[in-house]
Amino acid sequence: MIKINRSNPANSTRSRIYKAISQRGETSRQELAGLLALSMPTVLQYISSLIDDGYIKTTGQFKSVGGRKAEKLVPVADVKTAVGLEITKHYVNLVLSDMLGNILYHERVYESFRPESFYFERLGRMVSAFLKEAGGFPERILGCGIALPGNIDVDANLLVFSHTLDIVRSPLNLFSQYISLPCMFINDANAAGLAELRNWEKQPLVIYLSLNDSVGGSVFIDGTLYQGDHFRSGEFAHTHLHPGGIPCHCGKRGCVEAYLSAWALAEKTEGRLDVFFEKLEKEDPEILVIWGRYLDDLALFTNSLCTAFDCTVILGGYVGGYMDVYMADLQKRLAAQNVYNIDAGNVKPCRSQRKAAALGAALGWIDQFIETI
Ligand SMILES: [Zn+2]
Repeated sequence: MIKINRSNPANSTRSRIYKAISQRGETSRQELAGLLALSMPTVLQYISSLIDDGYIKTTGQFKSVGGRKAEKLVPVADVKTAVGLEITKHYVNLVLSDMLGNILYHERVYESFRPESFYFERLGRMVSAFLKEAGGFPERILGCGIALPGNIDVDANLLVFSHTLDIVRSPLNLFSQYISLPCMFINDANAAGLAELRNWEKQPLVIYLSLNDSVGGSVFIDGTLYQGDHFRSGEFAHTHLHPGGIPCHCGKRGCVEAYLSAWALAEKTEGRLDVFFEKLEKEDPEILVIWGRYLDDLALFTNSLCTAFDCTVILGGYVGGYMDVYMADLQKRLAAQNVYNIDAGNVKPCRSQRKAAALGAALGWIDQFIETI
């Protein structure tokens, strides 16, 4: 959903070197030459220019393994920053991210969405107040990424539809008109997937399943977001889990969203998902039954994904954040369903925090900037 400016070919070697330093945390000129198959004079030239521009710095030396000690090279994390917003029905998450995806400052502001100018003005004031609170250097901010719960067509400048916000064909610049930074837009599950993927080794295919109040997802091929023909790749919400089953707010019956959304659990505890999991931990009999059904449905759906694509499926969103301790139970249910009799180890709980969508939106700016270094 983000338009990425492709790198200037003349600078792509510099960008590759920067990315390698950024991903490794600390490295040396010698290691980079081997890793990227570059000559030492080329590495020396680009490292020198990256240091001059303030993107990396030297910090001490590695222990000697014979011969001269190699100098440590590390990225300068806050040379640039970006703001990320996650707009939900009831609140806005705001983060300030550095170049490495570290969250420098975070706020959650409870403001219910209304498709009215009052709300959009409030959004602008919210970002200004956030920047004031966050401090730092305004001139270093690349821009603001906005994650929205819905189908986004950047080329047409439209939020095509959002069941969560209950709007259709809404111009994207309505959301950014009062924000003083340049803005780019991304679907919330795509943003959360982008943030989550930074915690994992690169894999050929990964599906991120977002179990929020709405169910979404994102698909990554060789680490790159696959958006589909109509920007709808990974929109699992209204695929059918139980045809003819319980009604979904989309007007159909038996959709994944009706069974696997965070709300499907939280509605049993007055909208509080944290209370649901507290009661589950205390083995509340009614909650145990609901959770057992949820795990069966989650196993059914993830089994379909694993069988179809034979890839890693990451469980994210609000529910994903609680899944770690329930994975053994889920995997038993998955193994019972899988005809290939595998151990269902391809399904993993997410590693990132609940700010993932806002962070992913900010990372759109960071990733775009890195391509131009
Ligand atoms: Zn539906």
